[in-house]
Amino acid sequence: MTWNPVTGCTKVSQGCKHCYAERMAKRLTAMGSGRYRNGFKVTLHPDLLDVPRTWRQPRVVFVNSMSDLFHEDIPLDYIQRVFATMRDCPQHTFQVLTKRSDRLAELASHLPWPKNVWMGVSVEDARVISRIRDLSSTPAAVRFLSLEPLIGPLHGLPLSGIHWVIVGGESGPRARPMRKEWVDSIYRQCRDARVPFFFKQWGGVRKDLTGRELHGRTFNEMPSILQAA
Ligand code: SF4
Repeated sequence: MTWNPVTGCTKVSQGCKHCYAERMAKRLTAMGSGRYRNGFKVTLHPDLLDVPRTWRQPRVVFVNSMSDLFHEDIPLDYIQRVFATMRDCPQHTFQVLTKRSDRLAELASHLPWPKNVWMGVSVEDARVISRIRDLSSTPAAVRFLSLEPLIGPLHGLPLSGIHWVIVGGESGPRARPMRKEWVDSIYRQCRDARVPFFFKQWGGVRKDLTGRELHGRTFNEMPSILQAA
């Protein structure tokens, strides 16, 4: 499930080109949703900061699906409040994903890193591969890569200290193609480094037609910390 104590964002790289959150925010604004009265402008929702504390059953929570928690317009003390809630809810597993890895690296020492917080960076092509080094410098218990939407080859991934890799192609009307050899290369790198590999989808204009099989099977591997839980 998702938890959005912040909404809105701005684009930073090619992976943002067809941002799903932006499209969804525009739709919600048009529908008159109060949360989206600012459209896709960064907006804090402090009334939602404590919501995970009210969930008794353990949940896997994707944090800020409608924003980027390390956006430069989000103050450090607000990010600290988000992390405090995650720290105080060990029954849940929180997945945080950013493209602002430089700010993540800058702020990491000011944040608590409980083991129920999984921290990831998005890497869509080789131009932004340095995000992985920033992630590796953080003390998160689980560090993961979202290689999605994959729009170029990624050779020589620095996978040391990385616990999980997710790969997926772009979907939707203007989806950019993902080549099989790019996926194969990442798969081999993950096998060599013994990193769990999750293949999400081929994507394309009709993702229901392309599916999510690679070499005739699906790959749903997860970090061992979850399997052990
Ligand atoms: S960082 Fe994420 S939420 Fe922000 S514009 Fe890019 S894709 Fe959209």
